[in-house]
Order: sequence, then C-alpha cells, then structure tokens
Amino acid sequence: MGWISSDNEHEGWAAPEAPDGRLSSTSSSAGMHVKGITGRWPQDPQLDGDEIVPDKEIIGWRGACECGWRGELWERAHSPTAANFGQRRDYVAPEEFADASPHVEDAIHQEWKAHIAPSEAVLGVEAAARDHKQAGARLDKTVAAARAAGASWADIGRAVGISRQSAHERWSAQ
Ligand SMILES: [Zn+2]
Repeated sequence: MGWISSDNEHEGWAAPEAPDGRLSSTSSSAGMHVKGITGRWPQDPQLDGDEIVPDKEIIGWRGACECGWRGELWERAHSPTAANFGQRRDYVAPEEFADASPHVEDAIHQEWKAHIAPSEAVLGVEAAARDHKQAGARLDKTVAAARAAGASWADIGRAVGISRQSAHERWSAQ
C-alpha cells in the first residue's frame, strides 16, 4: 500500500482482483491475500479470515481507497499480444507475481489522484478561509485602535480602500 492524501483521509493502492471480485491489499510468495473465507482458496495460515489466491488466477487490477472508492478494472490479458493499454488490458505472465505492472500502477495512481482532487482542493479553501477570518479580526482591531487614536472615518476608509461612508457603516457600531 500506497498513496496517502494530505489530510490522511484517503489511502489508495493498485489492488489485484480475484475472480470473485475481492481485492487484495497484501501478498506473499503464495499469492494474493483476500479478506473472507469462501472455501474456494486455501486459508492464510498466519492471518485468520484471509484466503490466498494464486497469482495466476488474478484477473486484473483496480484502484482502491480506504474510503471505499474503487476505480475501473484494468483487465489482465491472456497473452502479450492481447495487451492494450488504451483498452485497459495488460499482460502479466501466469508464473509471475500478479502485481500491476509499473505502467498500470502509474495509471491507477493518476485515477486515484483524480478521486482525491476535490478534497485536496477544499483543503486550500479551508486554509484560505482561516487566514481570511484572522485577517478580518485584525482589521477590526486596528480600526478600533485608529478610532481611539483620533483617526476619522475618511482616514480609515482611505486606508482600507473604501469610502468614508462604508467605513462608518462597517465599524461604527463596534
Ligand atoms: Zn478515498
């Protein structure tokens, strides 16, 4: 596993998929580990409740995220000639470990980034809103201090970049 968002709310990875649709997040030399016992595959002797799907049975890969998001499937081609990146098909030989190829993993990483893009962007808004609020409080304070020191509404309006009238309306009640 994998990729973590700035707010730590999302952790994504390129998950190998078993023929029954279960996704793996752990592997060993015996194969891809999936959660749950169906009896179709041998149980993991170390981890209770896991089965081990042999690498050759993995049908493809897709993006997965701790939040529950799932990407589209990248299908495992049956021969090198059937591989076609544009059609989301890639070949990994049956005798090899069935991790996604670097190429597919990269593509899945991009898909995951698109998945977290809105929440990453909102973090920027949050930070700006925080600064905005602090700046507003500082403005109120300095205006009050300027008034106490004898500045006119016209002086304050000029400093802020608004009219005398607007400055008066905004701060006279405070
Ligand atoms: Zn997520």
